[in-house]
Amino acid sequence: MFFVFNWKMNPTKKEEAKSLFDFYCQNLERKNFKKTIIAPPFLYLPLFFKKGIPLAAQNCFYQGKGPYTGEISPLMLKSFQIKYVILGHSERRKYAKETNEEVAKKAKVAIENNLTPIICFGEEKKEKNLREKNIFSQLKPFSFLFQKKFSQKKIFLAYEPVWAIGTSLPCPLVEVERVALKIKKFFSQRGFTNYFFLYGGSLNSNNIRNYYSSLVDGFLIGGASLKKKEVKKILTLVNNP
Ligand code: PEP
Repeated sequence: MFFVFNWKMNPTKKEEAKSLFDFYCQNLERKNFKKTIIAPPFLYLPLFFKKGIPLAAQNCFYQGKGPYTGEISPLMLKSFQIKYVILGHSERRKYAKETNEEVAKKAKVAIENNLTPIICFGEEKKEKNLREKNIFSQLKPFSFLFQKKFSQKKIFLAYEPVWAIGTSLPCPLVEVERVALKIKKFFSQRGFTNYFFLYGGSLNSNNIRNYYSSLVDGFLIGGASLKKKEVKKILTLVNNP
């Protein structure tokens, strides 16, 4: 099981970020570092990258370098030994107006630079009949993955229904599993099986165990990743699978 902790745009002070990160280090057994990925804001990445817990950026650009003011290149992440990058989070789609095509372009460049993308997808509204249509239109631009040169590249696919993010209304496991099976069929029919399937949306230390399933390879955790009490309990689960 993988546990990805997305700090989003928090905390606001360097000292708080350091203290939170140290808290993760103190509560996580070294042998479980590999299963745990922390995604702090960009500025904090250089403070943490030597500590051994894998880090994810929360975004990157689809060009390596050049006149792109305000963007962060996948090459820069690589030079700080960052291995993962979250792409297409619903908050980026909402506030930075990222399109499906842009997210796919970013994922392609990230993979070409040996970063592992954690690609977020999921329907906005809780309308079951629209779920599949929305999900597959989000994933359509990822057809580059079906080229032979990408077939051995590992990626994460994080199913995060937007209505479940930060709402205390997690998507029931049966529905998550249904999506996992659809994704499995879609990708395996096209010869791409090299992915881990994650679920994210209002997970916390009380409900996360309900999502242990042979179809779910791990979790993306937002709000709870900032609360030390929650972090401690979740890391206890990581340490005691
Ligand atoms: C997220 O932002 O990816 C997320 C899953 O948030 P939360 O856990 O707060 O719902």
